Amino acid sequence: MSRKLLLRGGRLVDPASGHDGAADVLVDHGVIAEVDAGVRAAGARVVDCGGLVVCPGFVDLHVHLREPGREDAETIESGSRAAALGGYTAVCPMPNTDPVADNAGVVEMVAARGREVGLVDVFPVGAVTLGQRGAELAELGAMARSAAAVDCFSDDGHPIREARLLRLALEYARAFDAVIADHAEDSSLTDGAQMHEGEVSAMLGLRGWPAAAEEMVVARDLLLAELTGGRLHLCHLSSGGSVELVRAAKARGVRVTAEAAPHHFTLTDEEARSFDPVFKVNPPLREKADVEAVRQGLADGTVDAVATDHAPHAREDKEVEWAAAPPGMLGLETALGLVLSELVEPGWLRLSQALERLTAGPARCRRVPGHGGPIEPGAPANLTAFDPAARWAVDAAALASRARNTPYHGRQLSGRVVHVLLRGSFTVRDGGATR
Ligand SMILES: [Zn+2]
Repeated sequence: MSRKLLLRGGRLVDPASGHDGAADVLVDHGVIAEVDAGVRAAGARVVDCGGLVVCPGFVDLHVHLREPGREDAETIESGSRAAALGGYTAVCPMPNTDPVADNAGVVEMVAARGREVGLVDVFPVGAVTLGQRGAELAELGAMARSAAAVDCFSDDGHPIREARLLRLALEYARAFDAVIADHAEDSSLTDGAQMHEGEVSAMLGLRGWPAAAEEMVVARDLLLAELTGGRLHLCHLSSGGSVELVRAAKARGVRVTAEAAPHHFTLTDEEARSFDPVFKVNPPLREKADVEAVRQGLADGTVDAVATDHAPHAREDKEVEWAAAPPGMLGLETALGLVLSELVEPGWLRLSQALERLTAGPARCRRVPGHGGPIEPGAPANLTAFDPAARWAVDAAALASRARNTPYHGRQLSGRVVHVLLRGSFTVRDGGATR
């Protein structure tokens, strides 16, 4: 078999270089060899990309792969397959596994299993505190120096409650240029909360999770980032107030990056009226004005990245009454479709901007070597090709994830992933996973 692949006739959108136009991409031994209109390469295997957009493989800063500990909900293998089918070549699994990824052994195991599966590159996130208990710092240095080379730490699922600890973490992480990613929630205001606090929660009689509980922690975190000069990343911004705080902090030069999840720019708290726990998530679905503020934040770059917060749950855990269900929803296989259908088609973002938030944007938030572009000679061929015009209906039963908790079942989306290359090898070909 030829070691050369020619992706021919596509529209190349590479946000890192600013390229947007027709170009062929020649891949040789897993590496990009040439990018130009009308590349001629004798002996190369030609992949017809007519009608397709070719771009860097997507990078997801925030997923839950549930391994080790809850392999009934997802595994590194099933989650990697879901990611590849969603157009991703790199994912960052959060440390809230069992055992918690708070030491070199667990992060190395997760990274090694990711390599063994080989469908996406897996860059683990380490815990900030031991056991994510919020009491004492985990061995960030040991995880950073481990074979997994962790450069992003988070207690995601929980906030870092004590300001002193977050300050220490931000200061300590500077020594290896690592990022502290915080889940902003003041739990003294959200204890027992079931959904966003507003008119709908009042009507349904469910205890509310006020936007202020997120915004006050975002404000605190930004002040501490400013105080320490450390690198802060804010997970899953859900409220307009949070977006505004980040916008102002960026304007005064604070080292902060932020992500938003597709459900926070597509769904509102109105969904809770169904009492279908598939819509229960943390932070919760908020109001229309928040959805629009998150879209605006993505459009103007206040929000650097779309991150799915892919959170698979076993059926017997999630398909119970609302109050008993754990928060979280699937995201990897629907992210591109939602970005195209809800952000690009209505005109909130241009295609190249939207793809930036899936590629170069997240690659700016932490180190994901070889991912996010630019697509240029010498770079590893981590590439996605999708058909922006293809329409499809989400079918929960057809997802590659082990779990079924997608809030988008039955929804029509635009944009179908056709091919994905990881270092020049197909992980997805003609819309199907290669293994
Ligand atoms: Zn979280």
